[in-house]
Amino acid sequence: QLAGKRAVVTGSNSGIGLGIARELARAGAEVVINSFTDDADDHALAAQLATETGVKVSYIQADMSKPDQCRALIEQAGGCDILINNAGIQHVARIEEFPAEKWDAILAINLSSAFHTTAAALPGMYDKGWGRVINIASAHGLTASPYKSAYIAAKHGIVGLSKTTALEAAGKGVTCNAICPGYVLTPIVEKQIPDQMKTHNMDRETVIKEVMLSRQPSGEFATVEQMGGTAVFLCSDAAAQITGTTISVDGGWTAL
Ligand code: NAD
Repeated sequence: QLAGKRAVVTGSNSGIGLGIARELARAGAEVVINSFTDDADDHALAAQLATETGVKVSYIQADMSKPDQCRALIEQAGGCDILINNAGIQHVARIEEFPAEKWDAILAINLSSAFHTTAAALPGMYDKGWGRVINIASAHGLTASPYKSAYIAAKHGIVGLSKTTALEAAGKGVTCNAICPGYVLTPIVEKQIPDQMKTHNMDRETVIKEVMLSRQPSGEFATVEQMGGTAVFLCSDAAAQITGTTISVDGGWTAL
């Protein structure tokens, strides 16, 4: 289905990014996975994914908090037909106590990196008359919760960036959309549990049930496979006129 297409997925050595990389590879796309590390494990992961799916998979190290490295990632990949802006970090604290450097890092990684990679990738997509830019936003790109000011500002920002990208790319065979996941049990969520336990003075199970999944009417975590499947759908011909919008995969969170 996606044979002949090259996909770059930022922040994809774990969690949702890895899930999306895997589904794109299974659909036949050549895939570039990325993170800021350059460990043997990262390259082994690419090799394993290639063996598993039978397509070319490579690993390129680039730190998405650095504008020049965002642009270099696309250049080093040789351009891309599918760009998934997924890299993201989280920090949970009241605004009065929120460290300024955490604010800057979250805005850089969760929002500005997508601007830089998109700027680098669009010319090649326009030349080919085909492209897909998919930004991984969040239910927190559409609604808010306390204690996550930087993350929510960045995710609302990336929804806006997706709409502008869609308008500029309209009529050129290039679409841009944002996927808005609800809670998916990945390392970023696992890491929030201790902070949430402290902030709410609750044990682990109660935080999962009453804080996290209380907002998700299905009462279930969404999965990385479902995020991958949604990305593959957005790359399909059926989705060629879907652009400038958000797709929620959140168990009903934003319907509440
Ligand atoms: P994760 O922590 O498993 O993955 C984050 C990825 O980003 C990792 O591969 C990490 O190496 C990478 N990364 C972090 N900093 C980076 C940097 N400076 N440069 C390059 N890569 C970097 O978390 P996840 O849950 O898979 O999150 C992926 C995306 O999905 C994020 O944008 C997150 O905000 C979003 N999201 C997650 C959930 C959820 O419930 N898990 C919900 C909504 C949105």
